[in-house]
Amino acid sequence: MGARVRKGDTQEIRRLNRRAILEHLRQGPLTRAELSRRTGLAKSAISRLVDELLQEGLLEEGAFTSPPLGRPGTLLHLRPRARFALGAELGVEGTVLLALDWRGEVLWAREWRHDPHAGPEERLDRLRQEVLPRATGALGLGFTLPGVVGDRLLLAPNLGWRDLDLRPLLSGFPLAVAMENDAKASALSEVFFHGEANLAYVVLSTGLGVGVVAEGRLLRGANGAAGELGHWLGPGERACACGRVGCLETALGLGTLLAHHQALGGRAEDLEALLHLARQGDPLALQALAHLGEALGRFLANLAVAYDPALVVVGGKAAEFFPFLEASLRRSLEAHAFVEAHRALPVRPSVYGHLAPAVGGASLFLARFLELGGLWAESPRRNGGRYEEVAFGDRRGLGA
Ligand SMILES: [Zn+2]
Repeated sequence: MGARVRKGDTQEIRRLNRRAILEHLRQGPLTRAELSRRTGLAKSAISRLVDELLQEGLLEEGAFTSPPLGRPGTLLHLRPRARFALGAELGVEGTVLLALDWRGEVLWAREWRHDPHAGPEERLDRLRQEVLPRATGALGLGFTLPGVVGDRLLLAPNLGWRDLDLRPLLSGFPLAVAMENDAKASALSEVFFHGEANLAYVVLSTGLGVGVVAEGRLLRGANGAAGELGHWLGPGERACACGRVGCLETALGLGTLLAHHQALGGRAEDLEALLHLARQGDPLALQALAHLGEALGRFLANLAVAYDPALVVVGGKAAEFFPFLEASLRRSLEAHAFVEAHRALPVRPSVYGHLAPAVGGASLFLARFLELGGLWAESPRRNGGRYEEVAFGDRRGLGA
């Protein structure tokens, strides 16, 4: 065995070392000496790489610090807004588009509704028009769909889309584009920004989907359909948008919440009105929500048996209702928990609220950028402008 280091190896080492520095600085500002201690890299190597990152505008120097322990030095920070990505959610009722900086700050967000019968051409064309004037400098656009996303979009029941190759519609976008299931992208964003290694992200709106991260890896399954628990068949008799009867989301979806409220004699005509009534303490709104919370608690007890997550995050429209669901959800989860630990399973609403899937979309690119030690952006389109490199190719390690 020779000890010679090939050029490819030195590039790889440089990438890994830069990544280590950026990952440590994501936790908070550090001095060069502290970076050296934490990464195990020599001070000279840290100095060289930090200079490089400062020149690229990824880092900035802050206050001089003289801590009680450790060496004095200048604190290094990730520079705010140094890089950003676009994220979009193509939801059932509308589209969200936003820009997310690499530290997790939403720089701006736009939302628009659309005709309920709008097809993929119309919806992606509008998205492209909105993206065009805002794409300069973005690492890429990650967009999410409420469906089974592999190389193709296999099925999005609540959009009525089935077996589509969307790539021809994406060729007119001026930047790299990736697509992902909404719950899976949201789960990845939690991993990326909050470092949870075992979590389940429940997207509950019209439909129900779950993104599962187990030991740091996103569970996709053979077809990208893992976690589509809204289509778990039960004894119910309601028709589901997927064409079958008795899917779980026909009982837990928020359309059913509204119908239940109205059956009780409630007067809300849509979910916004129901939320408004709940905030005013309307008994029929609170009753319907407590009923949903109870059902959701049972569902989480099942989810805990299937995946044993350390944390459940509730996203989608249900995140806004969470304060009114929480008490009955917790009582139900405690009553139905299989093992003692599941009784105390932490459940919280998504930090990003209804923006979470779009944030997840953007985080596909931001996670990739960090994974590559921030080197990818030197020439993000060096691969001949093909977006497949990120979009449909190697997804391994994204957010992991
Ligand atoms: Zn179904």
